[in-house]
Amino acid sequence: MLAKKPVAPDGKNLNYDAALGALEKMSLKSRLPGFASHFYKLKSMRILLIEDDPMIGESLEEGLFKEKYQIDWARDGLEAETLIAANSYHLILLDLGLPKKQGLEILQNYRNAKGRAAVMIITARDSTSDRIVGLDAGADDYLVKPFDLDELFARLRALLRRSLVPENREIFHLGLSLNPSTHEVVYQGNSLHLSVHEFKLMLALLDEPGRVVSKSKLEEKLYGWDEEIESNTIEVYIHSLRKKLGQEFIKNVRGVGYKVANKS
Ligand code: CA
Repeated sequence: MLAKKPVAPDGKNLNYDAALGALEKMSLKSRLPGFASHFYKLKSMRILLIEDDPMIGESLEEGLFKEKYQIDWARDGLEAETLIAANSYHLILLDLGLPKKQGLEILQNYRNAKGRAAVMIITARDSTSDRIVGLDAGADDYLVKPFDLDELFARLRALLRRSLVPENREIFHLGLSLNPSTHEVVYQGNSLHLSVHEFKLMLALLDEPGRVVSKSKLEEKLYGWDEEIESNTIEVYIHSLRKKLGQEFIKNVRGVGYKVANKS
């Protein structure tokens, strides 16, 4: 399996299997910060688990961890919304009956705010009308408890595959076009060079034109969520993007973040 060994950012081979073995012996609490999450970022997707039942939550967290996903676990509806606001997830696993805020309301708020991660509802409610309400509210899939973990994993893989496809389509906004598969950039009819980080930053801002994206979310899109970066890094890239696209293309919303102009 030598060929599959991941390569660390500094170019050295990591002993990935040994590291994972050591991690799996660590307690749940000590897993997330620093060392552990650095290894996980190499090959994993980030999932938000929203579940108030401690036993179900622990077994899901454990199982997903072993499948090499990065997990954040929210135990109630308010904690879930706090985590959604602060982070970007590839997928959300959502229980419906929750303390403080119901799952359906969380889902509706998330879709109203243009949240685009795949959402899978996991709940004991199994009537057809519950499923329809959940899917109408913007869920992508629905699994009734109790379920088999292997079935959950198979459906997660299918959802994640599907949700990743649209990211490669070309994006147009106010005379700017970005092609994520070829990395080509055209602005006002002329081809333009953007560095890898400038490109990623522009993609993050154009994910929902007009919506303000916080600086921490931009940092996360550029570097992953656990990496330490210089506090003014985003400002530096915004500055260089404005030089290329004009001062007005990216707006600064003081104390909140950045957004792209909606119209020129
Ligand atoms: Ca519940």
